[in-house]
Amino acid sequence: KGKVAFIAGVADSTGYGWAIAKQLADAGATIIVGTWPPVLKIFQMGLRKGDFEDDSVLTNGGKMEIEKIYPLDAVFDKPEDVPESILTNKRYAGLDGYTISEVAAQVEADYGKIDILVHSLANGPEVTKPLLETSRSGYLAASSASAYSYVSLLQNFAPIMNPGGSALSLTYIASERVIPGYGGGMSSAKSQLESDTRTLAYEAGRKYGIRVNTVSAGPLKSRAASAIGGKGKKKTFIEYAIDYSRANAPMDQDLYSEDVGNAGLYLCSPMARAVTGVTMYVDNGLNCMGMAL
Ligand code: NAD
Repeated sequence: KGKVAFIAGVADSTGYGWAIAKQLADAGATIIVGTWPPVLKIFQMGLRKGDFEDDSVLTNGGKMEIEKIYPLDAVFDKPEDVPESILTNKRYAGLDGYTISEVAAQVEADYGKIDILVHSLANGPEVTKPLLETSRSGYLAASSASAYSYVSLLQNFAPIMNPGGSALSLTYIASERVIPGYGGGMSSAKSQLESDTRTLAYEAGRKYGIRVNTVSAGPLKSRAASAIGGKGKKKTFIEYAIDYSRANAPMDQDLYSEDVGNAGLYLCSPMARAVTGVTMYVDNGLNCMGMAL
């Protein structure tokens, strides 16, 4: 029986979640995704119109099929957590069951046990502000959406994962080195995510026999990255980061989302059965540089 992979944080074909889903699909996995309610309709419409066809082609000539899309808001764990402002929000109208525990229960009802869990989401409402100017609520919101969400996903999905299964998230070097412009407490949230990867690897490894890793990815012009800031300047944050990487990384080549997709496939496959608790760089090697020439 083929493996089932749940990828949280897919809403178009430009990001890392899609790229990982695609490589997993290429290797034969059944793909189901969790999509943030505010972007769910646009995503479904795009799929129906065939906007992502070109980005769905597999090596055997077939197309990646997303078997099911679950509305998911990863800042809520249980129905009781959803505030009135969200319940009455137009962008959530007609949807329910989008808290993490409810999505896990639906996935279990639909598929029984799954094998692969991917966390490819982040949100920091004050990302454009320097840390020194970030409010407490902005900082905690970044941490809630971008770091605790991985803890909660594992809490709720590990019990429905087969032993030998694997969880993966995406992080960024701003967790350990200063990256001006990556603000709002997002750098802090990524530090948490990487530290938690180690602790969760131990706990989930012992309790459920599953592996937990994170990929520290180089810059990619996804929807989320385009929101980081620098609008109105000569280059946006992400354009600057991509050019800087190209100019200074050991490998003088473009970084494609597919590069991260392939590393994700490896980490989630039996080839990596002894690899857990790691932060794996997929960044053309930029992380190892100490000085730019
Ligand atoms: P993306 O826009 O494809 O993915 C981010 C997704 O998170 C979006 O689909 C968004 O709808 C979703 N999301 C936001 N808040 C959510 C919530 N509360 N509940 C559920 N979903 C929510 O962009 P991406 O850049 O591919 O981001 C994926 C991951 O990769 C993130 O963790 C990001 O920090 C990480 N990453 C990105 C880069 C980069 O340069 N793009 C570099 C390193 C790491």
